[in-house]
Amino acid sequence: MTTRVRIDLRGLTGWDEEYVERHQADANTARLCNEILARCLVAPGEDAAAARATVRELLVAERDRELVALRRLSLGPDVSARIPCPACGETSEADFSLDVLPLDFEPPPRRLRVELEGVGEALLRLPTAGDQEDLIDAGLEGDAERRTWLLARCLERYGDRREGFDLHFARALPVRERAALEAAIEAALPDLDLEMAVECSHCGTPIVAPFDVPVFFFSS
Ligand SMILES: [Zn+2]
Repeated sequence: MTTRVRIDLRGLTGWDEEYVERHQADANTARLCNEILARCLVAPGEDAAAARATVRELLVAERDRELVALRRLSLGPDVSARIPCPACGETSEADFSLDVLPLDFEPPPRRLRVELEGVGEALLRLPTAGDQEDLIDAGLEGDAERRTWLLARCLERYGDRREGFDLHFARALPVRERAALEAAIEAALPDLDLEMAVECSHCGTPIVAPFDVPVFFFSS
């Protein structure tokens, strides 16, 4: 499956606004992002179970792109961002248009083949918005633990082996192989590092601030 995944969204309603309000403080922001998109794939108030599965299959970058599309569809492209100014220290109210965000990327392959010395070919899928949500639920402390968790999730074949890819298996892999698999995932994932270029409303200094889609979406 290499086709671009796009979904048909309806605009946000009061129904969704109330939902966001109830869940704004939830620790798992990935779930909130996925849930809002899923709700906007069905009529207001309808069961979103099937839509939720669709959204969970999106890559995180695809999910974030759809969230920006949802915001634009519902409230237009203009946003006001509150950004601390590094020059004068004031918090700047800066206007910004979602239309200038570079949201286009080549549709990545959904599966990767990685040649491992002495093992043969490994096959793995790219982590998705659903994985992101479950990874946060797993409450893991360190990067190595998170890597183990992701590799156990995403490995589908390892040489001749086709099953039994659990945490124990991922943890037992040599670091050289773990690094090669992670590097392949990293290289294939779309790069959606978004930035806002704005001007401080107090002193006029140009500021470039990161545009974090979930934070933006749920903080206004
Ligand atoms: Zn300033």
